[in-house]
Amino acid sequence: MALEKYKTRRNFSKTKEPEPEPAKKNLWRFVVQKHDASHLHYDFRLELPEDIVTGDIVLKSWAVPKGVPKKAGVRHLAVAVEDHPVDYIDFEGVIPKGEYGAGRVKIFDKGKFQIVNIGERSITFNLQGKKLKGDYVLLNLKDKNWLIFKSKR
Ligand code: MN
Repeated sequence: MALEKYKTRRNFSKTKEPEPEPAKKNLWRFVVQKHDASHLHYDFRLELPEDIVTGDIVLKSWAVPKGVPKKAGVRHLAVAVEDHPVDYIDFEGVIPKGEYGAGRVKIFDKGKFQIVNIGERSITFNLQGKKLKGDYVLLNLKDKNWLIFKSKR
């Protein structure tokens, strides 16, 4: 089931994060959220189908310790994390102490994106944010470990 991991990790009577409801229509948006948790990191999320059969739309998500690079050629580690509900794209606030991901969440950048190419181990997409613009690549190294970088093209 879509968003099962997201659901089991959270207590929705304690956190104000969105409920685990998948969307049915993709608006092709992305978000980068600055997350001041036990370790400060940035969460990069792309609105994408979770399942081609059900058509459920979720936010495919990666934790990026050093943030999404603005300069071409700089490669940063991006660790795949659980799918998030599409409503999370607008989430800002404080996840309470003791809850999963406790700490402040603030939107760093948001906008639309377009898929440029999907390879066997990579996704290339064009970001149209306020801060992040241009072609970016997510490259799967192994398991949950990916690299994110701005393409030189
Ligand atoms: Mn996070």
